[in-house]
Amino acid sequence: ENSGRLIIVAYRLPFKIVREGDGVNLFQNSGGLVSAVLSLVGDGAHSPVVSGDKIQWIGYTDNSKEELEGQSLENDSFKAHPVFIPEDVNENYYEGFCNDLIWPLCHYFPSHASFDEAYYQAYKTANQLFFEKLEEIIQPGDIVWVQDYQLMLLPQMIREKFPNNKVGFFFHIPFPSYELFRMLPVEWRKSIVEGIIGADVVGFHTNDYVEYFLKAVRMVLGHGNKLHYINLSNRIVKIDSFPISIDFKKFDKAYADPDVIKERTVAREMLKEKIIFSVDRLDYSKGILHRLDGFERFLEQNGAWHGRVAFVMVVVPSRDTIELYQQMKAEIDQTVGRINASYGNINWQPIIYQYRSMVFAELVGMYTASDIALITPVRDGMNLVCKEYVASRHDCQGVLILSEMAGAAAELGEALIINPLDKQNIADSIKLALDMPKEEQEKRMKVMRSRIREYDVFAWTNDFFTQITMLEQEHEKLR
Ligand code: UDP
Repeated sequence: ENSGRLIIVAYRLPFKIVREGDGVNLFQNSGGLVSAVLSLVGDGAHSPVVSGDKIQWIGYTDNSKEELEGQSLENDSFKAHPVFIPEDVNENYYEGFCNDLIWPLCHYFPSHASFDEAYYQAYKTANQLFFEKLEEIIQPGDIVWVQDYQLMLLPQMIREKFPNNKVGFFFHIPFPSYELFRMLPVEWRKSIVEGIIGADVVGFHTNDYVEYFLKAVRMVLGHGNKLHYINLSNRIVKIDSFPISIDFKKFDKAYADPDVIKERTVAREMLKEKIIFSVDRLDYSKGILHRLDGFERFLEQNGAWHGRVAFVMVVVPSRDTIELYQQMKAEIDQTVGRINASYGNINWQPIIYQYRSMVFAELVGMYTASDIALITPVRDGMNLVCKEYVASRHDCQGVLILSEMAGAAAELGEALIINPLDKQNIADSIKLALDMPKEEQEKRMKVMRSRIREYDVFAWTNDFFTQITMLEQEHEKLR
């Protein structure tokens, strides 16, 4: 039983704010976190863990203070509290510390990581700006839920000033093995682990990430743990895994949606071949080039499949003002061109490559038209695309080929699990998938579907909240 409000703190607000005339329009994001959190409020609430109030949401906005002066920034579910960060600070904080250091380090690309002093200063400043906004609105009894690698210092700041509020923290990307984490300068890594364990409950996607984090706490701060608990002198912190999920029903139902049926039909009529499908943001963590190598190896070794299979590869534009991403994009363009030129002919193009985003109906249309989903990140915190693929397959057909480096692999063992760096492994799995009997596909798909249906995104939020609200009882047990 809890009477407080829920305050979410995340880098982004739950809606985009667009000035129009004298007022503003709010365009709610469709992202995973927003829909997850929505399940906690309103008539259809899945879990009565917070009071009936709207969810308070603190996040960065690129609108100016003047632009938003006197505007009402709320809709039926959320009340937004924008944090204004000067452009130069945000550059070093977000593009810099977050995406040019923490992202590559946590995805096992230390060679892409820049350890810039100015990044760290800006990271501290930005976390402080989020804290100042929180100070303005927090009340006794409120539960604060801090999100992700952009805000790792915040839980500790809240703890010091507001020791009686419950604080949760969720880390949405992989937490790396200690050998990577230790590459951070001594002060930085100390403030990061200290910052995070300011929370009462700290969540990761998988047990491996939990284990790596506990090791970092042990090595950096010297605090041991008893199973999932770190016993500090004045309080206990719970560290646990909560694999994020999707709205299973939404994807399952979409199978019969007229727009989706139309997309599926068009795809099947245009492509007479077996269809392999992949979709991901442009990022080095997604293994796009290795995937192309694997597909090329498959073509090399399986002449009998030439003309009978098409690989539809959609890459969603992302961060493409950054040079590293532009280079990668150019390399993908070249590789696709080379493979199509080597193997294609007037009747057949092996790879159908698109650099664009897809709307929901197109996405589910392709999920359900394809024979194989080829999802091969070299590192991915969870990977929701593979869960969406499984949920979309109401017909229980299709084969999922999934990288063992995706957090989701821990839950989807019935997929064909591959090492994304091993092109022979990818090639063999494509062949195996193309030859897989329908009954076998159905058997595997059914098990995966029931698992995702059971632990959908609403179960995820509910699970995390139950942990926060049950803290007191748990602490009693431990004393
Ligand atoms: N997605 C999207 N636009 C598209 C295609 C896909 O927003 O054009 C969605 C997709 O449905 C999924 C998300 O982007 O929900 C990708 O999540 P994932 O965890 O797989 O990867 P991330 O991009 O977060 O690293």
